[in-house]
Amino acid sequence: MKNAASFLLQSLRRMYSPRLARVLTTTLPLAGLCAILALAPSARAQAKHLLIYTIDVEGGQSTLIVSPTGASMLVDTGWGGNDGRDAKRIEAAMKDAGVTKLDHVLITHFHTDHVGGVPNLVARVKVGEFLDHGENREDSDITRHDYAAYLKAIKGTPRRIIHPGDTIKIPGLTTIVLTADGEHIKSVPGVKPEPNPYCASEPKWTLDDTENPRSAGVLFRYGKFRFLDLGDLTKAKEIPLVCPDNLIGHVDLYLVNHHGMNLSNSKAFVFAIHPRVAIMDNGAHKAGMPEAYDTVHASPGLKALYMLHINETSDAAHNSPAPFVANLKGGSDGNYFKVVADSNGSFSVLNSRTGKTEEYPAR
Ligand SMILES: [Zn+2]
Repeated sequence: MKNAASFLLQSLRRMYSPRLARVLTTTLPLAGLCAILALAPSARAQAKHLLIYTIDVEGGQSTLIVSPTGASMLVDTGWGGNDGRDAKRIEAAMKDAGVTKLDHVLITHFHTDHVGGVPNLVARVKVGEFLDHGENREDSDITRHDYAAYLKAIKGTPRRIIHPGDTIKIPGLTTIVLTADGEHIKSVPGVKPEPNPYCASEPKWTLDDTENPRSAGVLFRYGKFRFLDLGDLTKAKEIPLVCPDNLIGHVDLYLVNHHGMNLSNSKAFVFAIHPRVAIMDNGAHKAGMPEAYDTVHASPGLKALYMLHINETSDAAHNSPAPFVANLKGGSDGNYFKVVADSNGSFSVLNSRTGKTEEYPAR
């Protein structure tokens, strides 16, 4: 009976908002819940969705991907310390998605807002394997420290070094590595490279010698739905992916590079990938910069730009309207966006703060 009830709760969560699912399960008898599921197209059909959670880790990255088969991957772990705050927020998203372990954890690069949360995470959650771009390349004490702490924390868990062109086996999805350790893929299977008209006016960017341009970046495909997450890749490494030819094609959902920093988000890149929806994982006082905001906001075909936080250091013209912001000034933090995608390319975005969902139909 307990199993049946938890199955129903999970099914309802996939169909409705977590809040509504909770209300339904606490107010209706089991027979009533069964009737709701029977009236719906079917719980099994509803469960056939890709789930993506952009978790609020206060200006770092942590993105949970759960395939229609229930396989899971976490991209980055947020910050360390803070009494395990970011690991707890990851666990909350996992609970909402109905997963109890992480099959893969990809560390895009070894900056503390991405890898810092690993020790707290492994203390709370079982991980199948860690994926990363290989050894730390940045000559700084903090990064050396975080890389050493990472190696120590993952001891005993399989680690795989990934390269452009590698695939990550997540049943139900096609997942391919586009960038890693400063290298990039030369062509993406199934994508015909197209000339990019925005290359001609793009300035030449100099390469920074940090871990950012080493970011491991991944393209996720579920049927016609396409989601791009390139970590903190900077402009000099964005351009080879889209100039002179766009190797990636268009995407439905773009996790804005580098939390919306101006070092990333070149116009030739953002306009070429032509996102329908972008989510910026900025903090209240970190990233979400006006120039990057303007570039993404002006991207042709963009329907919405979501932000994990109001940028408190910016103005109203460079902040999205409140319904598209997960965490407002003065409110409680930790709200996330939950994307539910269908293989036909349609998807929805739930703002966990408001409980409201926006729908984006198939192209
Ligand atoms: Zn970062």
